Amino acid sequence: MAPARKTPRKHSTQRSSRTGASSRERLATFTDSSLFRLTNHRLEGSKVNYLETPNKGGTIQPSYLVFHYTAGRSSQSSIAWLTNPLAKASAHLVVGRDGTITQLAPFTTKTWHAGVSHWDGLTGLNQHSIGIEMDNAGPLIAVGTKLTAWFGKSYQKSQAIFATHKLDTEPKWWHAFSEKQILIAVELAKILVSQYALKDILGHDDIAPDRKRDPGPAFPLGHIRALVMGRSQEEGDWYQVMVSALNIRSGPGSEYDIVASPLTKGTKLLPLEKQDRWTKVDVDPGALSSGQDLEGWVFNRYIESLNA
Ligand SMILES: [Zn+2]
Repeated sequence: MAPARKTPRKHSTQRSSRTGASSRERLATFTDSSLFRLTNHRLEGSKVNYLETPNKGGTIQPSYLVFHYTAGRSSQSSIAWLTNPLAKASAHLVVGRDGTITQLAPFTTKTWHAGVSHWDGLTGLNQHSIGIEMDNAGPLIAVGTKLTAWFGKSYQKSQAIFATHKLDTEPKWWHAFSEKQILIAVELAKILVSQYALKDILGHDDIAPDRKRDPGPAFPLGHIRALVMGRSQEEGDWYQVMVSALNIRSGPGSEYDIVASPLTKGTKLLPLEKQDRWTKVDVDPGALSSGQDLEGWVFNRYIESLNA
């Protein structure tokens, strides 16, 4: 599918279990931050480390940003793997759960994060993209009252969300990202899209849908895309819910399914598309208890522009 600036793709995710605190205001107003700078294709800032990986190719001119989860135990273990020649895998950045960033190669050097992949007529996205790995255990299996990752570590249900991946039909548990990681992901997307004039922000599951599910439904990719690519950072594009409970549906009409619990009064929304009396919106992830991505259709009469 061709990327379009003002109409992000459909993301059908559902929310369920909760985790984390509200980041609504910070996520919405996190603009022109001076958290990071770019010098010679290297990121600079506090809590940014550089450790060059041997797993890399030649020079690239990136057009896309691709997000991943590590499906690993810790950022240390993932960095160790992505700098191990045996792995034959790497990425440009690894973002730890505490917000620490490790860069493994300059942004104009090819890293090996995408594998066999396709997007918008291109194949082999390593040649065309910057890859960011988010430290996250990935899908979790319920064992008794706990959740277990493939590498054996257990997590509480409060550290996960139960959701259906946009490419699948059955819900499962996914390790939640930390609030710091999401804020850092937004900032990284802003500075990299701006510096390299990137065309779009994608997930590994977008470019390799037959074999990959990362970064998955716990990652608010749709929101980050809407915020960074879609709306030119204009505050005036935000809307809010005017009623105490507003249904959000899978299509523009009351005959469509309700996709999540009703939105509460004051919830902030980014409009993506309008049809008749309905508007497709991206819901501020800070407003959702799970902090995850949610898009759907709401009735125009019950939302108002914050620009008014
Ligand atoms: Zn991946």
